[in-house]
Amino acid sequence: MRLMRAVWQGVSTVRDGFERQITYLRVSLTERCNLKCFYCRPAEGQSSVGDGLPLDDLIRVIRAGARIGLRKVRLTGGEPLMRSDVVELVGALAEIPEIDDIALTTNGCLLSSRAAALKAAGLKRVNISLDTLRADRFREITGSGDWSRAWAGVEAALALDLHPVKLNMVVMRGVNDDEVLAFARLAEDLPLHVRFIEIMPIGPSSAWALDRLVPAEQIRQIIINRYGTLQPVKPGDGSGPARCWTVPGFAGSVGFIAPLSGYFCASCNRIRLTAAGTLRPCLCNGEEIDLAGALARGADDDEIIRILVKAVARKPQGHPEHTIIPVQDRLMSQIGG
Ligand code: SAM
Repeated sequence: MRLMRAVWQGVSTVRDGFERQITYLRVSLTERCNLKCFYCRPAEGQSSVGDGLPLDDLIRVIRAGARIGLRKVRLTGGEPLMRSDVVELVGALAEIPEIDDIALTTNGCLLSSRAAALKAAGLKRVNISLDTLRADRFREITGSGDWSRAWAGVEAALALDLHPVKLNMVVMRGVNDDEVLAFARLAEDLPLHVRFIEIMPIGPSSAWALDRLVPAEQIRQIIINRYGTLQPVKPGDGSGPARCWTVPGFAGSVGFIAPLSGYFCASCNRIRLTAAGTLRPCLCNGEEIDLAGALARGADDDEIIRILVKAVARKPQGHPEHTIIPVQDRLMSQIGG
């Protein structure tokens, strides 16, 4: 009820039923991806919606979201740079005055050729997903990916100062956990914000993921053993659930995202728009609210806002501490990781 009143009165903030202010919309532009990471790829023969909502609908939904206080937008997927209209989309979002942060999550492989156009269109910053610094291992993890293309994306982001450039590594026991220090060293030498992420039980390999989990504190200890005490970095606007640290003399920082060993549902500020055109109030809860159908039936902006507010109101309090009920209905690439 309070939520609805906020909309009718034109108040530009929206709170869920647990007093969390929701300011962040993550948008999956497509389920397509140019990499086939073994822990994220669809099963053989699994159907896909391909690209998400058309450009005009995306702009309308994001603009409506901005009117209720969803001021931060992240474009993700699938691989968002697989969409040919991504530069146009960024340009349109940059013109929405209420939006103060446009970010992109990408595997980087198509970034070097598009980074300049994206920046010119208004992209503020990028998160680049990279699980290894070894070309042979990159091929194994991603199916057939070319590490040098992903790294060229990192270099382009740094050269264009898409600041802060965050490098996201999903740490998996026995797969890439021997590279933690090599990644930390990147933050020593380059202005990169390296974030170590706990693998989550999402998708068909969810039981496997729990066996591969390396708790964030273990990763932090590996870095402390090498560099000594870490100094906490004051959380900024864009740090989200990451706990970040630095070492004197480092050009960048290291951060830890611990959805399993940590617990950050209490500060969750986001909802997601899936490539299938549904709103997902919580990553770890299967409930979704249809938006694509309403758009196809000609929903006006007020109705879009009502549906967005409904999604916010449906946010659950969270998952139990230290346990995530495995998410099997969708892959991260479909939800918008
Ligand atoms: N293609 C883009 C990319 O690679 O950044 C955006 C989509 S991808 C799904 C976003 C992030 O989700 C990647 O960093 C990927 O490693 C991560 N991811 C996928 N499945 C995951 C899981 N089960 N647990 C933790 N992170 C996961």
